[in-house]
Amino acid sequence: MQFLDQFRGNQLVTESDVAGFVWQGTPMRLMDRQRGIRKPRQLSAALTFRTVFTPPDGVPPYADQEGPDGFQRYKMRGDDPEHAENRALRQAMLHGLPLIWFVGVERGTYLPIYPVYLVAEERELRQFVVALAPEQRYLLGVSDAGNADDVRRYADRITRQRLHQPMFRARVLAAYQQRCAMCRLRHVSLLDASHILPDGHELGQPVVPNGLALCKIHHAAFDQNIIGIRPDLQIVVREQVLLEVDGPMLRHGIQELDGRRLEVPGSPAADPSADRLEVRYNDFLAAI
Ligand SMILES: [Zn+2]
Repeated sequence: MQFLDQFRGNQLVTESDVAGFVWQGTPMRLMDRQRGIRKPRQLSAALTFRTVFTPPDGVPPYADQEGPDGFQRYKMRGDDPEHAENRALRQAMLHGLPLIWFVGVERGTYLPIYPVYLVAEERELRQFVVALAPEQRYLLGVSDAGNADDVRRYADRITRQRLHQPMFRARVLAAYQQRCAMCRLRHVSLLDASHILPDGHELGQPVVPNGLALCKIHHAAFDQNIIGIRPDLQIVVREQVLLEVDGPMLRHGIQELDGRRLEVPGSPAADPSADRLEVRYNDFLAAI
């Protein structure tokens, strides 16, 4: 996990980054190309597990692999709970060992989430129950009728922070090649993945066609209806803001965007969908 910390800056790791890991003088593979569960031979329990990437317009499996308690599930390998790899995961669970979860962002690129823990097994469903943070472990089975909603909300919040939000951001930024779709700024730490339609809207799924890579300023301007986007991708600045007089940030950063075309990935699977943009643009028009 300390080894992975060095990649924290851009949050993602590639297969070749991970291939450089050496433990006590010997290379140790942290990921297996063919299999999801990795137990290095020097260890008696699994160390990592993996979820392959989902195409940009697909809803990733983790989005609906959440149990009624708000905890993620991870499927065992195959049908046999006694398969060596499933046993390796079980060992990690029984000993309370921290694991690394590599979640695929695009081919060969992963968001590593760690430490995660396996906190229970649902053998009949061939799956383990995953806690995404140390504090989430303690929420399993603690609710009674009186506080079930609070516990569920807290578990959900941890899942959003540790999995859903970073994965949405990683997938959207990857599709836009780490650039703001309005101004082309490439400074990753100043970029966000904004939702076109919010979580909870019927078209608000965590898929790339519902996202836009935007810098902090343009994200806020979009959210606050200072800037709108027509379904044909033309950028529209609110008229009242076009009339304001201020320094270069307003002039170059906002007013000059009016009438320009949004820079999108250029593939139907990743481009913002016209139907979502239309709903959002109507909200923009209603707000001005
Ligand atoms: Zn920008």
